[in-house]
Amino acid sequence: TNVSQPKHADRSKVYMADLESTLHYSLRVEATRAAALSGAQLAAFKCYVSMLVKYFPGRPCVQTYLQSLDVWLKNWTECPWGPCSLTPCLSVHQASHPAVLPTNVTWVGCQGSERQFRGYPCGLWTIFHLLTVQAARSGHDKELPLEVLSVMRCYVRYFFGCQECAQHFEAMAAESMDRVASRKEAVLWLWSHHNEVNARLAGGDTEDPMFPKLQWPPPDMCPQCHKEEHGMHAWDEPAVFNFLKVHFSPANIYMDYAE
Ligand code: FAD
Repeated sequence: TNVSQPKHADRSKVYMADLESTLHYSLRVEATRAAALSGAQLAAFKCYVSMLVKYFPGRPCVQTYLQSLDVWLKNWTECPWGPCSLTPCLSVHQASHPAVLPTNVTWVGCQGSERQFRGYPCGLWTIFHLLTVQAARSGHDKELPLEVLSVMRCYVRYFFGCQECAQHFEAMAAESMDRVASRKEAVLWLWSHHNEVNARLAGGDTEDPMFPKLQWPPPDMCPQCHKEEHGMHAWDEPAVFNFLKVHFSPANIYMDYAE
Protein backbone atom coordinates (compact mmCIF):
# COMPACT_ATOMS: atom_id res chain seq x y z
CA THR A 1 0.00 0.00 0.00
CA ASN A 2 1.39 3.35 -0.93
CA VAL A 3 0.42 5.52 1.99
CA SER A 4 2.98 8.21 1.24
CA GLN A 5 0.79 9.62 -1.51
CA PRO A 6 -2.70 10.09 -0.10
CA LYS A 7 -5.32 9.65 -2.80
CA HIS A 8 -8.48 11.59 -3.01
CA ALA A 9 -11.39 9.30 -2.23
CA ASP A 10 -15.09 10.05 -2.02
CA ARG A 11 -16.80 7.77 0.51
CA SER A 12 -20.01 7.81 -1.49
CA LYS A 13 -18.23 5.98 -4.33
CA VAL A 14 -16.91 2.47 -4.89
CA TYR A 15 -13.50 2.25 -6.58
CA MET A 16 -12.51 -0.40 -9.11
CA ALA A 17 -8.90 -0.11 -7.88
CA ASP A 18 -10.04 -1.40 -4.45
CA LEU A 19 -12.04 -4.24 -6.01
CA GLU A 20 -9.25 -5.39 -8.33
CA SER A 21 -6.64 -5.09 -5.56
CA THR A 22 -8.86 -7.26 -3.36
CA LEU A 23 -9.31 -9.87 -6.11
CA HIS A 24 -5.60 -9.92 -6.80
CA TYR A 25 -4.82 -10.40 -3.13
CA SER A 26 -7.52 -12.97 -2.45
CA LEU A 27 -6.96 -15.09 -5.58
CA ARG A 28 -3.19 -14.91 -5.84
CA VAL A 29 -2.01 -14.47 -2.25
CA GLU A 30 -4.57 -15.42 0.38
CA ALA A 31 -6.25 -18.44 -1.24
CA THR A 32 -3.00 -19.95 -2.43
CA ARG A 33 -1.23 -19.62 0.92
CA ALA A 34 -2.18 -23.18 1.81
CA ALA A 35 0.41 -25.63 0.53
CA ALA A 36 -2.24 -27.84 -1.01
CA LEU A 37 -5.88 -27.32 -1.80
CA SER A 38 -8.16 -30.29 -1.68
CA GLY A 39 -11.58 -31.40 -0.47
CA ALA A 40 -13.80 -28.74 1.06
CA GLN A 41 -11.16 -26.04 0.71
CA LEU A 42 -10.77 -26.64 -3.02
CA ALA A 43 -14.56 -26.71 -3.39
CA ALA A 44 -14.78 -23.37 -1.56
CA PHE A 45 -12.23 -21.86 -3.95
CA LYS A 46 -14.11 -23.15 -7.01
CA CYS A 47 -17.40 -21.76 -5.68
CA TYR A 48 -15.79 -18.40 -5.01
CA VAL A 49 -14.43 -18.13 -8.55
CA SER A 50 -17.74 -19.29 -10.13
CA MET A 51 -19.63 -16.71 -8.16
CA LEU A 52 -17.23 -13.96 -9.24
CA VAL A 53 -17.79 -15.00 -12.86
CA LYS A 54 -21.53 -14.75 -12.35
CA TYR A 55 -21.79 -11.49 -10.41
CA PHE A 56 -18.56 -9.48 -10.33
CA PRO A 57 -19.14 -6.41 -12.52
CA GLY A 58 -15.54 -6.29 -13.72
CA ARG A 59 -13.80 -4.82 -16.72
CA PRO A 60 -13.92 -7.14 -19.76
CA CYS A 61 -10.27 -8.16 -19.30
CA VAL A 62 -10.87 -9.08 -15.65
CA GLN A 63 -14.02 -10.99 -16.55
CA THR A 64 -12.03 -12.94 -19.13
CA TYR A 65 -9.45 -13.71 -16.46
CA LEU A 66 -12.12 -14.97 -14.06
CA GLN A 67 -13.88 -16.99 -16.75
CA SER A 68 -10.73 -18.77 -17.84
CA LEU A 69 -9.74 -19.45 -14.23
CA ASP A 70 -13.23 -20.90 -13.66
CA VAL A 71 -13.09 -23.16 -16.73
CA TRP A 72 -9.61 -24.22 -15.82
CA LEU A 73 -10.62 -25.09 -12.24
CA LYS A 74 -13.70 -27.01 -13.40
CA ASN A 75 -11.56 -29.16 -15.69
CA TRP A 76 -8.99 -29.67 -13.01
CA THR A 77 -9.77 -32.90 -11.26
CA GLU A 78 -6.25 -33.96 -10.51
CA CYS A 79 -3.36 -31.60 -10.26
CA PRO A 80 -0.83 -32.51 -12.91
CA TRP A 81 2.06 -31.46 -10.68
CA GLY A 82 1.69 -34.18 -8.10
CA PRO A 83 1.20 -32.64 -4.63
CA CYS A 84 -1.92 -30.65 -5.24
CA SER A 85 -0.83 -27.07 -4.82
CA LEU A 86 -2.70 -24.35 -6.63
CA THR A 87 0.29 -22.03 -6.73
CA PRO A 88 1.98 -23.53 -9.81
CA CYS A 89 -1.42 -23.85 -11.45
CA LEU A 90 -2.24 -20.18 -10.93
CA SER A 91 1.11 -19.01 -12.22
CA VAL A 92 0.78 -21.13 -15.35
CA HIS A 93 -2.67 -19.69 -15.73
CA GLN A 94 -1.32 -16.18 -15.39
CA ALA A 95 1.37 -16.76 -17.98
CA SER A 96 -1.14 -17.85 -20.59
CA HIS A 97 -3.38 -14.83 -19.94
CA PRO A 98 -0.98 -11.99 -19.22
CA ALA A 99 -2.08 -8.81 -17.47
CA VAL A 100 -5.80 -9.47 -17.36
CA LEU A 101 -6.10 -8.97 -13.61
CA PRO A 102 -3.60 -6.29 -12.57
CA THR A 103 -1.02 -7.46 -10.05
CA ASN A 104 -0.51 -4.16 -8.28
CA VAL A 105 -2.26 -3.26 -5.05
CA THR A 106 -3.71 0.25 -4.89
CA TRP A 107 -6.17 1.20 -2.17
CA VAL A 108 -8.34 4.26 -2.82
CA GLY A 109 -11.67 4.13 -0.95
CA CYS A 110 -10.02 1.52 1.32
CA GLN A 111 -6.78 3.44 1.85
CA GLY A 112 -5.84 3.67 5.54
CA SER A 113 -4.04 6.55 7.22
CA GLU A 114 -1.27 4.08 8.06
CA ARG A 115 -0.12 0.83 6.54
CA GLN A 116 -1.68 -1.45 9.17
CA PHE A 117 -5.16 0.00 8.73
CA ARG A 118 -7.95 -0.83 6.24
CA GLY A 119 -6.90 -2.14 2.79
CA TYR A 120 -7.75 -5.78 2.15
CA PRO A 121 -10.44 -6.43 4.84
CA CYS A 122 -12.22 -3.26 3.69
CA GLY A 123 -12.02 -4.49 0.09
CA LEU A 124 -13.37 -7.92 1.02
CA TRP A 125 -16.46 -6.45 2.72
CA THR A 126 -16.98 -4.19 -0.30
CA ILE A 127 -16.78 -7.08 -2.78
CA PHE A 128 -19.26 -9.20 -0.85
CA HIS A 129 -21.73 -6.33 -0.44
CA LEU A 130 -21.44 -5.72 -4.16
CA LEU A 131 -22.01 -9.41 -4.95
CA THR A 132 -25.10 -9.74 -2.72
CA VAL A 133 -26.54 -6.65 -4.44
CA GLN A 134 -25.76 -7.93 -7.96
CA ALA A 135 -27.39 -11.27 -7.09
CA ALA A 136 -30.50 -9.42 -5.82
CA ARG A 137 -30.71 -7.40 -9.04
CA SER A 138 -30.75 -10.56 -11.12
CA GLY A 139 -34.46 -11.13 -10.37
CA HIS A 140 -35.63 -14.46 -8.88
CA ASP A 141 -35.70 -12.99 -5.35
CA LYS A 142 -36.70 -16.24 -3.65
CA GLU A 143 -34.36 -18.49 -5.64
CA LEU A 144 -31.13 -19.60 -3.91
CA PRO A 145 -31.25 -16.79 -1.34
CA LEU A 146 -27.93 -17.90 0.17
CA GLU A 147 -26.06 -18.17 -3.13
CA VAL A 148 -23.60 -15.40 -2.28
CA LEU A 149 -23.64 -15.53 1.53
CA SER A 150 -22.80 -19.22 1.68
CA VAL A 151 -19.84 -18.71 -0.66
CA MET A 152 -18.69 -15.81 1.51
CA ARG A 153 -19.06 -17.98 4.62
CA CYS A 154 -16.89 -20.71 3.04
CA TYR A 155 -14.33 -18.22 1.75
CA VAL A 156 -13.97 -16.61 5.17
CA ARG A 157 -13.80 -19.96 6.93
CA TYR A 158 -11.16 -21.52 4.68
CA PHE A 159 -9.09 -18.58 3.52
CA PHE A 160 -9.52 -15.30 5.39
CA GLY A 161 -6.12 -14.65 6.98
CA CYS A 162 -7.55 -13.12 10.17
CA GLN A 163 -8.58 -16.21 12.10
CA GLU A 164 -10.19 -14.34 14.94
CA CYS A 165 -12.35 -12.47 12.39
CA ALA A 166 -13.26 -15.75 10.69
CA GLN A 167 -14.39 -17.23 14.02
CA HIS A 168 -16.54 -14.21 14.80
CA PHE A 169 -18.07 -14.27 11.34
CA GLU A 170 -18.76 -18.01 11.50
CA ALA A 171 -20.51 -17.55 14.85
CA MET A 172 -22.80 -14.87 13.36
CA ALA A 173 -23.45 -17.02 10.30
CA ALA A 174 -24.25 -20.12 12.37
CA GLU A 175 -26.71 -18.13 14.43
CA SER A 176 -28.89 -16.59 11.74
CA MET A 177 -27.71 -16.99 8.14
CA ASP A 178 -29.98 -19.99 7.50
CA ARG A 179 -33.06 -17.89 8.17
CA VAL A 180 -32.34 -15.64 5.17
CA ALA A 181 -35.26 -16.36 2.81
CA SER A 182 -34.65 -14.09 -0.19
CA ARG A 183 -31.87 -12.33 -2.06
CA LYS A 184 -33.09 -9.02 -0.68
CA GLU A 185 -32.83 -10.38 2.86
CA ALA A 186 -29.29 -11.56 2.04
CA VAL A 187 -28.29 -7.97 1.17
CA LEU A 188 -29.78 -6.73 4.44
CA TRP A 189 -28.28 -9.60 6.48
CA LEU A 190 -24.78 -8.68 5.36
CA TRP A 191 -25.40 -4.98 5.94
CA SER A 192 -26.76 -5.47 9.48
CA HIS A 193 -24.07 -7.96 10.49
CA HIS A 194 -21.34 -5.71 9.12
CA ASN A 195 -22.82 -2.99 11.37
CA GLU A 196 -22.65 -5.43 14.30
CA VAL A 197 -18.95 -5.89 13.56
CA ASN A 198 -18.52 -2.09 13.29
CA ALA A 199 -20.15 -1.66 16.71
CA ARG A 200 -17.95 -4.33 18.28
CA LEU A 201 -14.74 -2.85 16.84
CA ALA A 202 -15.52 0.86 17.44
CA GLY A 203 -12.83 2.47 19.59
CA GLY A 204 -10.59 -0.62 19.47
CA ASP A 205 -6.97 -0.76 18.40
CA THR A 206 -7.69 -2.00 14.85
CA GLU A 207 -9.76 1.11 14.16
CA ASP A 208 -8.13 3.67 11.88
CA PRO A 209 -8.47 6.94 13.85
CA MET A 210 -9.06 8.75 10.56
CA PHE A 211 -11.94 6.35 9.73
CA PRO A 212 -13.91 5.76 12.92
CA LYS A 213 -16.30 2.79 12.85
CA LEU A 214 -19.82 4.02 12.22
CA GLN A 215 -23.25 2.55 11.98
CA TRP A 216 -23.40 2.75 8.23
CA PRO A 217 -24.70 4.53 6.16
CA PRO A 218 -24.51 7.55 8.51
CA PRO A 219 -27.34 10.12 8.35
CA ASP A 220 -25.41 12.52 6.11
CA MET A 221 -24.98 9.78 3.49
CA CYS A 222 -28.54 8.53 3.70
CA PRO A 223 -30.94 10.67 5.73
CA GLN A 224 -33.94 8.59 4.64
CA CYS A 225 -32.34 5.41 6.04
CA HIS A 226 -32.80 6.71 9.59
CA LYS A 227 -36.01 7.16 11.53
CA GLU A 228 -37.23 7.45 15.08
CA GLU A 229 -39.55 4.95 16.73
CA HIS A 230 -40.79 5.54 20.28
CA GLY A 231 -38.05 8.13 20.72
CA MET A 232 -35.37 5.64 19.67
CA HIS A 233 -33.22 5.47 16.58
CA ALA A 234 -34.39 2.88 14.05
CA TRP A 235 -33.42 1.92 10.52
CA ASP A 236 -35.86 2.27 7.66
CA GLU A 237 -34.95 -1.05 6.04
CA PRO A 238 -36.68 -0.51 2.68
CA ALA A 239 -34.79 2.79 2.38
CA VAL A 240 -31.53 1.07 3.39
CA PHE A 241 -32.10 -1.59 0.73
CA ASN A 242 -32.66 1.07 -1.93
CA PHE A 243 -29.54 2.91 -0.79
CA LEU A 244 -27.42 -0.28 -0.92
CA LYS A 245 -28.75 -1.08 -4.40
CA VAL A 246 -27.56 2.29 -5.68
CA HIS A 247 -24.30 2.45 -3.69
CA PHE A 248 -23.19 -1.05 -4.73
CA SER A 249 -24.25 -0.73 -8.36
CA PRO A 250 -21.94 -0.89 -11.40
CA ALA A 251 -22.83 2.76 -12.10
CA ASN A 252 -21.25 3.77 -8.77
CA ILE A 253 -17.91 2.05 -9.45
CA TYR A 254 -15.24 4.59 -10.42
CA MET A 255 -12.05 3.96 -12.37
CA ASP A 256 -9.86 6.54 -10.56
CA TYR A 257 -6.36 5.12 -9.93
CA ALA A 258 -7.23 1.81 -11.64
CA GLU A 259 -4.32 0.58 -13.73
P1 FAD B 1 -14.86 -1.73 6.87
O1 FAD B 1 -15.63 -2.15 8.06
O2 FAD B 1 -13.87 -2.69 6.33
O3 FAD B 1 -15.89 -1.36 5.72
C1 FAD B 1 -15.48 -1.14 4.38
C2 FAD B 1 -16.40 -0.16 3.72
O4 FAD B 1 -17.70 -0.72 3.63
C3 FAD B 1 -16.61 1.14 4.52
O5 FAD B 1 -15.62 2.06 4.18
C4 FAD B 1 -17.98 1.57 4.07
O6 FAD B 1 -17.89 2.22 2.81
C5 FAD B 1 -18.70 0.26 3.84
N1 FAD B 1 -19.50 -0.17 4.99
C6 FAD B 1 -19.27 0.00 6.32
N2 FAD B 1 -20.25 -0.57 7.05
C7 FAD B 1 -21.09 -1.13 6.15
C8 FAD B 1 -22.32 -1.86 6.29
N3 FAD B 1 -22.84 -2.13 7.49
N4 FAD B 1 -22.93 -2.28 5.16
C9 FAD B 1 -22.41 -2.01 3.95
N5 FAD B 1 -21.26 -1.33 3.75
C10 FAD B 1 -20.63 -0.88 4.86
N6 FAD B 1 -11.48 -6.91 12.46
C11 FAD B 1 -11.24 -7.14 13.77
O7 FAD B 1 -10.42 -6.45 14.38
N7 FAD B 1 -11.94 -8.13 14.44
C12 FAD B 1 -12.85 -8.92 13.81
O8 FAD B 1 -13.45 -9.81 14.42
C13 FAD B 1 -13.10 -8.70 12.42
N8 FAD B 1 -13.97 -9.49 11.72
C14 FAD B 1 -14.08 -9.34 10.35
C15 FAD B 1 -14.89 -10.21 9.62
C16 FAD B 1 -14.96 -10.12 8.24
C17 FAD B 1 -15.82 -11.10 7.46
C18 FAD B 1 -14.24 -9.10 7.55
C19 FAD B 1 -14.30 -8.99 6.05
C20 FAD B 1 -13.46 -8.21 8.28
C21 FAD B 1 -13.36 -8.32 9.66
N9 FAD B 1 -12.54 -7.45 10.42
C22 FAD B 1 -12.37 -7.67 11.76
C23 FAD B 1 -11.95 -6.27 9.78
C24 FAD B 1 -12.85 -5.05 10.02
O9 FAD B 1 -14.24 -5.39 9.91
C25 FAD B 1 -12.60 -3.94 8.98
O10 FAD B 1 -12.71 -4.51 7.68
C26 FAD B 1 -11.24 -3.28 9.11
O11 FAD B 1 -11.06 -2.83 10.43
C27 FAD B 1 -11.15 -2.06 8.15
O12 FAD B 1 -12.19 -1.16 8.48
P2 FAD B 1 -12.66 0.00 7.55
O13 FAD B 1 -12.72 1.27 8.34
O14 FAD B 1 -11.87 0.05 6.30
O15 FAD B 1 -14.20 -0.34 7.17
